Amino acid sequence: MSRVRFVNSFHETVPADPKRAFATEVVSRLRAAGFRALWAGGCVRDLMLGEPPSDYDVATDAVPEQVMRLFRRTVTVGLSFGVVRVLGPQGAGEVEVATFRSDGRYLDGRRPETVCFGNPAEDAARRDFTINGMFFDPIEGALVDLVGGRDDLQRGVVRAIGDPAARFEEDKLRLLRAIRFAARFGFALEPATRDALERMAPQIRVVAVERIAQELRRMLVHPRRAAAMRLCADVGLLAAILPPIDALRGRTVAAGGREVDAWAHTLAVLDALPTDPPVTFTLAFAALAHEAGESPDRAETGGGPPLDERGGDVAGQLAGALRLANAERERIVWLVRHRRALRGVGAVPAHVRKPLLASEGIDELIALHCADAIATGERIGPIEEVARYRESLPEGPLDPAPLINGDDLKRLGLSPGPEFKSILDEVRRNQLDGIVKTREEALARARELADRGSRPGP
Ligand code: ATP
Ligand code: MG
Repeated sequence: MSRVRFVNSFHETVPADPKRAFATEVVSRLRAAGFRALWAGGCVRDLMLGEPPSDYDVATDAVPEQVMRLFRRTVTVGLSFGVVRVLGPQGAGEVEVATFRSDGRYLDGRRPETVCFGNPAEDAARRDFTINGMFFDPIEGALVDLVGGRDDLQRGVVRAIGDPAARFEEDKLRLLRAIRFAARFGFALEPATRDALERMAPQIRVVAVERIAQELRRMLVHPRRAAAMRLCADVGLLAAILPPIDALRGRTVAAGGREVDAWAHTLAVLDALPTDPPVTFTLAFAALAHEAGESPDRAETGGGPPLDERGGDVAGQLAGALRLANAERERIVWLVRHRRALRGVGAVPAHVRKPLLASEGIDELIALHCADAIATGERIGPIEEVARYRESLPEGPLDPAPLINGDDLKRLGLSPGPEFKSILDEVRRNQLDGIVKTREEALARARELADRGSRPGP
């Protein structure tokens, strides 16, 4: 089985684009000035797989000052690391040009203390995995593979360059990167690499949570997110970064009227998330965490569907521990709390249904429900009906402007107090339910409620 397309023919399999043209020009300009220059790392890997690279990196023996003299528009990224960003013309993106280097000692488990400028062999040796350690000369059309990357790419293997334990020891973020690449390409972890990964998985905790969250984000928005999470669980990384999710393994939950394995179900939901529009991080994270409440709450809320408060709390704690932005955390909590809220939404009162359907996260919630239904083999027809109903309505009817406000109540002779809110809330519910349709009706209803001692009706 050959996954790799031969590098000499990728020009035919990956359409040329302005980014690639610019990345080629950067190499030829460096070469014309007497330097060595090669495409390096991920872009070489992607082209060999027949995928358009997201961006191009160039490795060269020119030092940053020399690179900056050759190109008009540059941004220095890390001078001491030898990295200069060269900006291309409109639409051509930018190319990171880095001097061949070898990394010094790693002291903090994440970054080298010093770097030395070196040669291609040293530069390949400091990279993480063989499939990420190749160079390509776009002028000659020649692959420069000093680490056996091509064979591993062809066989579908993620293998650390050099001694895996030593490489993970240097930079523990590589533990997660290994999983991300294996999942993304459907590759196997080479046995020694996997051994080291399993032994060292708990050490991922020395990495800054923001960096962990960034890797997690990249894994979760990718279509192969379920494979990534399964691998994370199998090697022990999930237990280290998201213990309550890891605890789903071996637990059963009720889904679709049956007892199912909570972890297998979670993976099935991750797999079933609809892909159009692309899955957001908040949706994928909510799917990952949606069974994390110890047991679902049964409490009904105000005639509405049951909310999973505990699940929402756990998801919120995880999002907080990963220092996600507040808006993301709130969305995740909302999604998990409302994970069953669309069930039978046609039967709940309009004053419950309408605000739910007018919520900002409703598209993600519908997607979560669909995935959950698909994973449990339930019909998704009712969910699609909800989605259609919502789309068929202009924004107004779901979230109409209130008919009256506090000033109106004052004009009715009421004095501000706690009853104000309960009257306004009840009138609002009546409005959404279609019982109260005009401002006059709303005022009459408010007066009636005030006369009744401000107690809302049944
Ligand atoms: P992606 O498509 O996800 O961007 P990539 O391989 O381009 O994948 P980058 O993080 O952009 O990944 O890094 C570019 C290259 O730099 C990698 O291909 C690899 O050679 C090297 N590299 C990046 N991060 C590390 C690391 N933590 N340790 C060693 N080498 C790394
Ligand atoms: Mg990259």
